Amino acid sequence: MTLTPALTRHLSNPDLFGDLTSMRSLAKPLGKETFQVFNPSTGELLAELPDMGVAETKEAIDKAYVAQAEWAAMTARARSDVLWRWHQLIVDHTDDLGAILTAEMGKPLAEAKSEVSHAAAYLQWYAEEANRIYGETISAPSTDRRMLVIKQPIGVVGTITPWNFPASMVARKISPALAAGCAIVLKPAEQTPLVAGAMFALAEKAGFPDGVLNLIYSAEGDAVGHELCTNAKVRKISFTGSTEVGRLLMRQCADQIKKVSLELGGNAPFIVFDDADIDAAVDGAIQAKFRNGGQTCVSANRLYVQAGVHDEFAERFAARVATLSVGDGFAPDVAIGPLIDTRARAKIEAHIADALEKGGTIRCGGKRITSDGTFFQPTVLTDISSAMRVAQEETFGPLAPIIRFEDADQVVREANDTIYGLAAYFYASNLKRVWRVAEALEYGMVGINTGRMSSEAAPFGGMKQSGIGREGSRHGLEDYLEMKYLCMGGI
Ligand code: NAP
Repeated sequence: MTLTPALTRHLSNPDLFGDLTSMRSLAKPLGKETFQVFNPSTGELLAELPDMGVAETKEAIDKAYVAQAEWAAMTARARSDVLWRWHQLIVDHTDDLGAILTAEMGKPLAEAKSEVSHAAAYLQWYAEEANRIYGETISAPSTDRRMLVIKQPIGVVGTITPWNFPASMVARKISPALAAGCAIVLKPAEQTPLVAGAMFALAEKAGFPDGVLNLIYSAEGDAVGHELCTNAKVRKISFTGSTEVGRLLMRQCADQIKKVSLELGGNAPFIVFDDADIDAAVDGAIQAKFRNGGQTCVSANRLYVQAGVHDEFAERFAARVATLSVGDGFAPDVAIGPLIDTRARAKIEAHIADALEKGGTIRCGGKRITSDGTFFQPTVLTDISSAMRVAQEETFGPLAPIIRFEDADQVVREANDTIYGLAAYFYASNLKRVWRVAEALEYGMVGINTGRMSSEAAPFGGMKQSGIGREGSRHGLEDYLEMKYLCMGGI
């Protein structure tokens, strides 16, 4: 593996990450093929990595299978101690990890560091939760029996993560699995594998036993994914990414009735009622829509604003959006980095074109910043209807469509009229309305008078085709535990 100066010049301690080239948790490359990782802001080559496929994945699974028994046999306290050490190392190297993240993914450096802190928070949370795995005793229906439930780790977990949160998605998945006593084979996204590699290098320093953590660098996501789903030694797949790929993985897991946790796409409504605090709603919409340049599964995708406050909200929101600066994530005061690639840009442009053709109006933005690059102006559209693509599909970019509505019941029906059910947001002050709307929205997470709700302490996940399972909180641990009922007779 080669890391280029385009990456190492951003690091205070490049030697530490020299370990990226000799990690024992990195699957041993069996072939000579490589793939390249680029900075999406500058197009510079950052690294050339070994391209691993099915053979390397099989080896990694075999190693994990052996190591898992040893890891599960350790005390919960001993597993917790290793997680704590990993947490501390990530905290200590936040600046370098943030720089790697900005280099490979493009997000502003401050946002990248905040993501690294969020990743560390998951490790901290599950270092604590590792000690809180409880079973139960049950009052037996006859006097000669005793009945109880114990919890055991599910086994080897295959994990696949996306490019939009390349550090926190890794931590959010593998920290509960490790706390539960599972071993891991991880394949990060092809576009953003470097921060995962750096986190694994730190995990080795934390003292995970050999084989508990295994990393596959690959540009053959489909082949690696197929092996993880169909290899009988893997007991569970934990995937974050698009609904389309999630469906495919679930099908591949079906023959073995393999357990799955799926964190998939969204189409989040953001509703502003007439009685909302408009200042707060504008702030919340900026956060919910433009964090990570709108490339977030919980990004507000459709803004519904009630007629009485529509014009005021649209004007103030568009004025704020027009001030958001776009550029290289390493430049000071940048609020939005580049889109991840030209495919992402094409989707935004298609959504804008469709909206304009059907009567939409551009209130700000709407164009590429350079003719050939992936920097795109943050954009607000009004005169949007639910029939437009921008209201139906996940845009995954800095584009905010505003839909005017009159009737409060009707807007909840429209908000629910989607195959997705990940996140929803609304702003209102009437208490009765707050409860009714919160209960009626068919979403796994609802932000009420806030545009940001992700936390290691809360269960993150979706309803409908946005996924299965929850990550974070005490519930996240349950997803990696099997429940076993013990019945003792003849007492
Ligand atoms: P994606 O195309 O589904 O890719 C996600 C991961 O799956 C990548 O590692 C990718 O590898 C791999 N992959 C792609 N095709 C595969 C296949 N046929 N078999 C096995 N693995 C395969 O999604 P994305 O574009 O990277 O991420 C954006 C999507 O993720 C959005 O829909 C977003 O809403 C969703 N997301 C959801 C959450 C959540 O918590 N619910 C969080 C973040 C993102 P390669 O990189 O090698 O293609």
